[in-house]
Formats: sequence, structure tokens, C-alpha cells
Amino acid sequence: MNDDINNMNITRAYKFKIYPDFKRQAEIDEKLLLSQQLYNKLLEKSISSYKDGNTKVSMAQFNEYLKGIIQEDDKYLKLYSQTRQDIFLRLIKAYSNFFGRVKKRTAKKGFPRFMSRDRYKSLTYPQDNSSFSIEKGKLRVSRIGTMKIIQHRTIEGKTKTLTIKKVAGNYYAIFTTVKEVEVPKAEDTNPVGIDVGLKTFAVLSDGTNITKPNFRKKQEKHIAKWQRIVARRYKGSKRRQLAKDKLNREYEVANNQTNDYLQKVTNKIVNLGYTSFAVEKLQIRNMVKDHSLAKSINYASWNKFFQLLSYKAESAGVKVTEVDPRNTTKTCSNCGNIQSMPLSKRIYLCEGCGLNEDRDINASINILNRALDTKGSNFGSKTAKTREGHSRSHVQGDFVRPQREAVVEELKTYSANAVHADAGEANAS
Ligand SMILES: [Zn+2]
Repeated sequence: MNDDINNMNITRAYKFKIYPDFKRQAEIDEKLLLSQQLYNKLLEKSISSYKDGNTKVSMAQFNEYLKGIIQEDDKYLKLYSQTRQDIFLRLIKAYSNFFGRVKKRTAKKGFPRFMSRDRYKSLTYPQDNSSFSIEKGKLRVSRIGTMKIIQHRTIEGKTKTLTIKKVAGNYYAIFTTVKEVEVPKAEDTNPVGIDVGLKTFAVLSDGTNITKPNFRKKQEKHIAKWQRIVARRYKGSKRRQLAKDKLNREYEVANNQTNDYLQKVTNKIVNLGYTSFAVEKLQIRNMVKDHSLAKSINYASWNKFFQLLSYKAESAGVKVTEVDPRNTTKTCSNCGNIQSMPLSKRIYLCEGCGLNEDRDINASINILNRALDTKGSNFGSKTAKTREGHSRSHVQGDFVRPQREAVVEELKTYSANAVHADAGEANAS
């Protein structure tokens, strides 16, 4: 093997709009309903078994339950077998989260929740056997049928899964693929640090500014409005459902706008000639749950931004290193002094050495230094040049692979639920 080449698997997700006719729509809707019911039935069985003292859940166990459920009602045989397997996987995931919470003794300890019709939005075909195919602009899916697909990009790599998703009355097909690529190892002559923030979307350590898209305020307003309307209408009422549909449409619009924006921004950054990127590691799990909508949206878009950047950069042979995010704003990038930096202070005026630097640029320089300095917080050995020009030929650090599941998940659900689940304290300390 050539030493100057890295082989790596890149996972990608491709989302396309599909246009099932009424009959196919009915097929998909029926399968979603069956999946939701099956999910709930399996959950019900495992909860009662849990209460009887069986604390383990396994695929074998679920298969046992499934047999019983199908004996009672064979309509579940309409679901493709692999789709049924996927329901198990979702349950197992919900359960492992539940057991995690039990272990951690966190306050929120309830069983995995039953799924409402609104929450069950997608069908997954986990293996690429003969269960789906695309030919001449038509997508054929086992047990559903054939429908028009608008394929605006070529699918590269080996297809692993297909997910059919219904969002706000629209239907999508999401393919995940894996592709092995050869990436030449390049000299790291132009590394850059990226700080994401609340005021500006991102600031690079060389002073490059990426402004916040101006559609964001509008999105937040619309979403908040429909959330309020949903909240005040009676549970189970038609009017509440109408408002929910409206709300979902707003999320969908926000999602699409944000995606477009992030695709453009990451394409641009990757093509600016940097040889490596340093970013903060976003701590999803440690984040305190925060109900602020603006913060949730910020957080979700940073997360997505880093994921897109990772996989685009990686394809181009450019490293992305994640660093410890602690005190990146409060630390002086020149002398290592740590001082309080309330959000109102836009300039880092160092009490130690007198450094006078834009707060976000200071933070992004810290992020870069942490990536360049494998010892992390050892400021004494810092040699990276910043703003005036980067020069350092060798970088060590962990290569960040695109988090395969995360990318897929993100594309699947940048909806309210997902945002809330991951929401946390905004990262701009
Ligand atoms: Zn200083």
C-alpha cells in the first residue's frame, strides 16, 4: 500500500423527493400506520415482560413477540421483513436510552414512549437486496410499488439503506451509501480554526466571517407562533391537528432553507484552500436541556454544519480535528490567561498581556491552537501562527470520521422533536 494514501469509507445520505400516486401514497400511509402499531404492540409486550422481572431485550425476544402478534393478526405480514427488523432496531435503541437513563439515575426515567401517528414518519429498508431499485426516473420499492423520483444528484458508492419518509404531506426517499475513497495525505500548510457563535454564524481564525442567514429570525417567529397555537387548542381536536400540520410545514421550510444554506457555506469553506480544520466538539449529551427555540435551532444547525464540513473536507483530503470546547471564549489566545467573557463583550481585552482581539476570532484561534497542540491545554508550546498567516507543516490529532449514523439521523429528522432532544445550552460561553 502507498504510504501517501489513506483509504477510507465515506458514508453519505442522499435525499430525494418522490411522487407516489394516490394508490402508492395509501400503501405508504398504511405501512406507516402498521409500523407504528407494531412498534407499540412490541413495546407493550416488552413493558409487561419488564414488569414481570425480565429486564433484558433482544432481537430474539422481539422475534418471539412478533410471532405472537402475527398469530393474532396477520396484517403485519404486509410489512416487508426488513422493515419489521428496523422496527426492532428502533425499539432496541429506545430501550438502550432507557437503560442508560436508569443507570445514570437521571430524573427522566420513563419507559420508551408509545409512538403517536405523528411521530412515526419513516419506513426503512435496511439492506440493499432486491427490495428497492431505481430505473428511468422511477423508484420501485417492495410492498409499496413504483413511483416517480426526482434525482437531482447521482448516487455514489454502494447503497446500504433506503428510508421512505413522509413530512408535512411530502414524500422523500433517503438513500445511505458507503464508498471507499483514496485520499492523499497532504502537508498541512494552511490550517484554520472555526468558532461557531450566536451573533455571527462562524468566524475563522484568519478573520473570515460567515454571517448568519437572515431567514433565521423569520423561521423562529413562524415556528414559535404555530407552537403557541398548537398548545392552546384542545388535545385531539381537528383544529389542533390542522395547527400541527401547519407547524410541521414550517419546520420543513426551515429545514430546507437551513440545509441549502449549510450546503453552500460548507462548499465555500472547503474550497477556500485550507489544509485542515479545527472545530469544537459539540457535547450533545452533556448539554442541559434548553427549551429556547432559537438556541435549539442554533445547536442543530452547528451540528449539521460540522457533519457536512467533515464529510466534504474528508473527501477533499482535508483533515477535521475536533477539540475540547472548554473555555475557548474565555481563554486568551496569546498568553493563556482565563477571564470572564459575558456575551456583551465583543472584544477580548486580556487582563494578562493586553491582547486586543475580536472575541470570536480569539476563540477560533484557541480552537486552532488546541488542534495543533496535541497536548491540548499546554499553551507554552503553542507555535501556531494565527491571523497574520498560518504556518505549521505537521498536525497531529484525531481524524474525525463523518459520524455515519449522525449524518443519516440528521437528514432524517431536523424536526422539532430532534431539535428538542439535542437542544442544549448554546455553545458560545
Ligand atoms: Zn493574554
